[in-house]
Amino acid sequence: MEKREKLYEGKAKVLYKTDSDNLLVAYFKDDTTAFDGAKKEVLEDKGVINCAISTVIFEYLEKHGIKTHFVERLSPREMLVKKCEIIPVEVVVRNVAAGSFSRRYGVPEGTPLKEPLVEYFYKNDELHDPMVCPNHVYLFGWATREELGQMTKIALEVNELLKKFFDEIDIQLVDFKLEFGRCNGEIILADEITPDSCRLWDKSSGEVLDKDRFRKDMGKVVESYKEVYRRIMDRYEKVGE
Ligand code: ADP
Ligand code: UDP
Repeated sequence: MEKREKLYEGKAKVLYKTDSDNLLVAYFKDDTTAFDGAKKEVLEDKGVINCAISTVIFEYLEKHGIKTHFVERLSPREMLVKKCEIIPVEVVVRNVAAGSFSRRYGVPEGTPLKEPLVEYFYKNDELHDPMVCPNHVYLFGWATREELGQMTKIALEVNELLKKFFDEIDIQLVDFKLEFGRCNGEIILADEITPDSCRLWDKSSGEVLDKDRFRKDMGKVVESYKEVYRRIMDRYEKVGE
């Protein structure tokens, strides 16, 4: 598959065209940003680890019936993906209070939620990704009722699969963000699933193993991502998927 010109450069990835109209190469950068790009650093190897983690997770989800944009990992930092029309709605699923949920509703971080909560945010850095409700999504025409229903159902299925996946490696899945796209008339899971887009806490010690280490200047960011990957690969050797 030939990599062609750059289509888009984002904060953490670059998308390249290929010689197929239906496929793109996603290149994972070491750039790490938070607070809508206001805080930025280059963390050596982060792109390689995130490409590796996202690959294993997309393969695991595909095996369990979730349709994703993932085709194959081409190189340490590159993933071949199906080109899709991204729906500008970030779908966040939460199992435990943290981050903006804790700040917005005054619930201490670490409080378990009695059932998974799905929230929607408008993907727009200039507006700081404002939280929206389904009516905004329909009013602005970002997705139809049917599409948002599908996205929500898939997000909850992904939550169940990933809660189990991470539980098996002694990690608590606190929350995560998903992006979806339209591809051949279908809604598929796109973008990435990595410690940049999830909150992951060690089950016994509560140690933070995700991007909050960067947001909160806790240090050892890439080391923690590597620890997540090490556990994922240990699990893979035992479970085989
Ligand atoms: P951002 O745009 O938020 O800075 P990234 O640096 O991760 O984020 O850039 C990747 C961009 O590619 C995101 O805007 C994402 O919505 C988009 N994207 C992810 N997967 C696909 C896909 N399969 N087809 C088209 N666009 C995609
Ligand atoms: N998240 C993300 N990209 C965003 C916003 C959030 O990947 O633009 C992820 C974040 O890493 C966390 C979850 O979504 O796992 C919920 O984030 P929250 O709303 O708590 O935002 P934050 O604490 O970053 O303000």
